[in-house]
Amino acid sequence: MHKIIAANWKMYKDRTEAATTADEIAAALPETLPKDRQIIVFAPFTAIDRVALAFREYKALSVGAQNFYPAVEGAFTGEISVGMLRDVGAEWVLAGHSERRQVFGETDEMVARKAIFALSHGMKTMLCIGETLEEREQGNLYAVLERQLTAFFAARPEGMAGEALVGRLAVAYEPVWAIGTGRVAGPGEVREAHGVTRTLLEKFIGETGKKLPVLYGGSVKPDNAGALIALDNVDGLLVGGASLEAQSFLQIIGA
Ligand code: PEP
Repeated sequence: MHKIIAANWKMYKDRTEAATTADEIAAALPETLPKDRQIIVFAPFTAIDRVALAFREYKALSVGAQNFYPAVEGAFTGEISVGMLRDVGAEWVLAGHSERRQVFGETDEMVARKAIFALSHGMKTMLCIGETLEEREQGNLYAVLERQLTAFFAARPEGMAGEALVGRLAVAYEPVWAIGTGRVAGPGEVREAHGVTRTLLEKFIGETGKKLPVLYGGSVKPDNAGALIALDNVDGLLVGGASLEAQSFLQIIGA
């Protein structure tokens, strides 16, 4: 399985800044990229087309969108469809990022409906799951990940077999307490959560669950990326703050 290194630029960078960073990543890539790596940049909507332009000659580089509304089109003022995102070059979408859940009130059901909609409409989807500090301290890690994944698999239409998700669905385990806080989960915590995630994926889709990449996200930096990616069941990294500078993201890619 290819390791996926994904950048979440959140609500940072205008088009000029995004272009500069994307061009720097693309230019450095031939030297930096280990063969088995796939890179995704989840850019702000206004920069997706420009990042796609920078990445157009590299199969290993893709662009994603951080949000969308799960309808083909319609009277949904202020929203954006997956078709519109594909039109400007997005291949991937994020669903269920903890900032969407916490700041914008997206429920497990809403996240599941969005992820299934995106997959059904040809978008590769990165589904984010993870517990809050309070949930972890109450010993609810398994219960939270199970609840979030159950919502997704329960929303799956009958015709969408587990095999249909391979190469199209990635899961990102992101403990909420480690996102943007500088507090990275320790190796034991990451191993445990990724083991739980893998077990749950296998519970829902059997052996096929082994083929879905599970990424870790939460305060990944150049100096901890190598150790994190070497852990069992860690098939990639989702990087926020440290992906904003091309040099630091490139170091993480090469870790
Ligand atoms: C994220 O936004 O998904 C994230 C993991 O952020 P950070 O790396 O800044 O913690």
